Amino acid sequence: LPQIRAQATSEYVPDTKFYKVEAILRPWRIPMVSAALLKMGIRGVTVSDVRGFGAQGGAAERHAGSEFSEDKFVTKVKMEIVVSKDQVDTVVDLIIKEARTGEIGDGKIFVLPVSDIIRVRTGQRGEEAERMSGGRQDMSKHGNV
Ligand code: ATP
Ligand code: GLN
Repeated sequence: LPQIRAQATSEYVPDTKFYKVEAILRPWRIPMVSAALLKMGIRGVTVSDVRGFGAQGGAAERHAGSEFSEDKFVTKVKMEIVVSKDQVDTVVDLIIKEARTGEIGDGKIFVLPVSDIIRVRTGQRGEEAERMSGGRQDMSKHGNV
């Protein structure tokens, strides 16, 4: 498959420190995506089982997932990853690389501005709350990017 690149985050409006990358993907591709995310130091991810329809129009998944549905909804997984602005492009590129088959039903990615992050345990906000142990800062300390 030819490579597909994300657009530059410098063009995002509104401009903010954090964004949520929300991806609706084929369930059987999730292990590949999450393994790649973990490898780049992403530690905070939320997934939900969802059902939807797009161009795939309710056609049954040929792989895993619901083989038939009474309505027109296809089983998908929604993956939500809140990251710093400078991580958005990498995360989007990685999702495309790991989730894409080139067939209808590969899914869609939404990028949303996030106004603030609050860590419930500590009350930290913003950058302090966004930073994860084992994340980018810890990885750079150990010299892996
Ligand atoms: P603590 O340091 O108190 O453990 P934490 O920041 O590691 O806090 P958790 O309390 O472990 O956060 O996170 C709870 C849930 O929040 C996670 O299971 C995940 O679903 C979600 N989550 C955390 N960070 C993110 C993120 N950056 N993007 C998406 N989901 C996240
Ligand atoms: N930006 C955070 C870090 O590098 C990671 C965010 C996340 O795991 N979603 O520590």
